[in-house]
Amino acid sequence: LEAQRSSDTNGVEPCAVEEELEPEEDSVPEGARPIQIVITNEDDHKFELDAAALEKILMQEHVKDLSVVVVSVAGAFRKGKSFLLDFMLRYMHNQSSESWMGGDDEPLTGFSWRGGCERETTGIQAWSEVFVVEKEDGTKVAVLLVDTQGAFDSQSTIKDCATVFALSTMTSSVQCVWDKYGRLAMEEIYEKPFQKLLFLIRDWCYPYEHGYGLKGGNCFLDRRLQVKQNQHEELQNVRKHIHNCFSSIGCFLLPHPGLKVATNPHFDGRLRDIDDEFKKELQNLVPLLLAPENLVEKEIGGAKVTCRDLLEYFKAYIQIYQGEELPHPKSMLQATAEANNLTAVAGAKYTYNRTMEQVCGGDKPYIAPVDLQRYHEEFKKTSVQQFSAVKKMGGVEFSQRYQQQLETELDEVYTNFVKHNESKNIFYAARTPATLFAIMFV
Ligand code: GDP
Ligand code: MG
Repeated sequence: LEAQRSSDTNGVEPCAVEEELEPEEDSVPEGARPIQIVITNEDDHKFELDAAALEKILMQEHVKDLSVVVVSVAGAFRKGKSFLLDFMLRYMHNQSSESWMGGDDEPLTGFSWRGGCERETTGIQAWSEVFVVEKEDGTKVAVLLVDTQGAFDSQSTIKDCATVFALSTMTSSVQCVWDKYGRLAMEEIYEKPFQKLLFLIRDWCYPYEHGYGLKGGNCFLDRRLQVKQNQHEELQNVRKHIHNCFSSIGCFLLPHPGLKVATNPHFDGRLRDIDDEFKKELQNLVPLLLAPENLVEKEIGGAKVTCRDLLEYFKAYIQIYQGEELPHPKSMLQATAEANNLTAVAGAKYTYNRTMEQVCGGDKPYIAPVDLQRYHEEFKKTSVQQFSAVKKMGGVEFSQRYQQQLETELDEVYTNFVKHNESKNIFYAARTPATLFAIMFV
């Protein structure tokens, strides 16, 4: 109920509703809602990651160590992404039920959509509630739903959009792209190695040529991806390479949802107002992305990524994209290799810190410096081994640099542990009368 209250901004007056809800949002920080995690600054076009917000989502105790499935819907504004995501939410909430789509008269809630005065922010939003799903083999995975949007019509923001799109491609395991964006995406990506890409084409009006759904869509996509002699070389290359970029590519054709959905300002998302044909296809589309047997865990360099890792990837990617350049496919690959190494460094550092904390953390007594050094050497070794054991992209030489960085950082952390340990000793000494005396007379 909280979730619905805090996220339902689909009323007739979305502005007023949103304002009313603002103070309440603070009092219900746990209420499920969309959270802006990446935002584009309108003035300098820099990207900002709200790492604290993302951490709150991904580091929840029950999900942080599970492999993550990131389903991201990308596209321009007002294409119906939020609308689709809200149906995904309904599915996630009623997984086991055939009638997950809900009743005829339930307004659609979740990611806010259609908000007339909603600010059009290029960026990435994530749903605050991470769903835990048991796969057929009994393993549990965490499912994160992500909304990515950009204003594709304006030239000045092409870089922002490409960057946001690159970020979402790199961080998601299943990427759905609405048509227009889809075309851009096809022309932007040349190189490996992402997972599942689904082009969604809405308002398809040639069902007699290619039928609705996945079958017709794939057939259409095959045609579009055909390499033709008279095409520009660049386009030919894109077409040749796109199958190397993603381990699976598909296309889904959706019918028009009906005039009420497209034009009626009072439409609130209830099923009654949506065309049957559209609902029928939606009934197939959503499980195709979210049914347990279809979930694709996020992998980077062949290794599964947990929620905890994903947070590190986001941090690393955002740093890499602070530059001025338009993200190029090559740089995406490079960025992935970098982020991949940085994540391995972060994981190894975490292990080192945790084990050191256990012997000389803030609540532990002073220990002899020789013992501390021995622990340091032992834990450093384990931590470096952990780093080496992670499958990494970019080659051995590339990751050597990161290993050196890791070792340097661990030595620095160790210096701090040493100082902290010494301070415990002084504190201890300061309480003895002799030292007290000395201090008083200095
Ligand atoms: P977003 O900005 O991409 O998140 O778009 P929204 O989900 O907010 O939807 C924008 C508008 O498109 C709303 O008025 C929806 O009712 C409408 N809409 C949603 N899906 C479709 C679709 O498949 N076709 C058409 N023509 N309109 C749609
Ligand atoms: Mg939206």
